[in-house]
Amino acid sequence: MKKIQMVDLKGQYAEIKDTINTSFQTVIENTAFINGPMVHEFQKNLEAYLGVKHVIPCANGTDALQIAMMGLGLKPGDEVITADFTFAATVEVIALLNLTPVLVDVNEDDFNINIEAIKKAITPKTKAIVPVHLFGQCANMEAVLEIAKEHELFVIEDNAQAIGANYRFKDGSKAKAGTIGDVGATSFFPSKNLGAYGDGGAIFTNNDDLAHTLRGIVNHGMYKRYHHDVVGVNSRLDSLQAAVLDAKLPNLDSYNKARQLSAKKYNQAFENIDNIITPKLSNGCGENICETCDCHVFHQYTLRLKNVDRDALAKHLNDNGIPCGVYYPIPLHSQKAYADERYDEADFPVTNQLVKEVISLPMHTELDDEQIECITSTIIKFINE
Ligand SMILES: *Cc1c(COP(=O)(O)O)cnc(C)c1O
Repeated sequence: MKKIQMVDLKGQYAEIKDTINTSFQTVIENTAFINGPMVHEFQKNLEAYLGVKHVIPCANGTDALQIAMMGLGLKPGDEVITADFTFAATVEVIALLNLTPVLVDVNEDDFNINIEAIKKAITPKTKAIVPVHLFGQCANMEAVLEIAKEHELFVIEDNAQAIGANYRFKDGSKAKAGTIGDVGATSFFPSKNLGAYGDGGAIFTNNDDLAHTLRGIVNHGMYKRYHHDVVGVNSRLDSLQAAVLDAKLPNLDSYNKARQLSAKKYNQAFENIDNIITPKLSNGCGENICETCDCHVFHQYTLRLKNVDRDALAKHLNDNGIPCGVYYPIPLHSQKAYADERYDEADFPVTNQLVKEVISLPMHTELDDEQIECITSTIIKFINE
């Protein structure tokens, strides 16, 4: 059996080696390392894939979130609501801009931001909601948009984990994750579903004026060379990363399909195990992953364990050469950097529970049946012992 890895980037590279090597060579010979033609080409191809008017490439996903918030003109003291159960980047940029983070609880079934908790957290100072499409499927965007409309709030989608996922509206229409709110932010960190060979990120919007503002902010606030109209940042996607991303983009749907197939096999193996709750599809596809499922792209395959010592299982897996992860072990409202007297433990029953129950299994495009069988049987054996 091939060694099991949490993410297998080598196997994926082997499949696209010739394309990547050729485009790397082209970029190196052109020496247009920054803002070269490759970046523009990738931008156009990603706009077409997502069906969004504007893609603004930038240096990483954290920058993408920060620049999105700067572009919307959020001001110190403005309250921004986001999920308590996510990677810290989301809340970090809110704090860095001197905005006030307002963390709220999530749903136990799909791990995404809880709609009632958002409603409860709204005050006259609330200016934006940042739904995070955690682990690969969209938050309840229809409800988020409704709240945003009623209270005149911006919606910034953190789409770092769900690129390529579709969101289904009640009327049957679909949109790609990240293109539904006012603005979306994504990351091309190597292990993300569309990963570069270094850092990268992008911002999406259908709003022409906002796109113009964002293009200036990523480039030192310049709209005309050496005319600095606003305070900006330096955040660029470099041409070598764009070359990798452009080579991988045509494969994104098949990469996501491979992840779904592995998720389906995991689900089947755990079907009758009472102590294991497999991931729930909350948007459009019903309970089970079907052949046409495109609403969950399984950035992570995350189980909830009931009456199982999660940390002992994680150790057992590691001892047996099976990597696993705990995303995330601490609620953001309990992190030293973000703890605040404003928060009441009673408002976070789900996150406080999830941090103790969740475990993420190896998930990437190269998992084979033998590996999945080894992972699932090791887990089931541990639980039954
Ligand atoms: C990865 C990630 C980010 C940050 O992306 P970087 O490219 O690493 O800066 C932000 N939000 C979420 C939910 C992520 O998973």
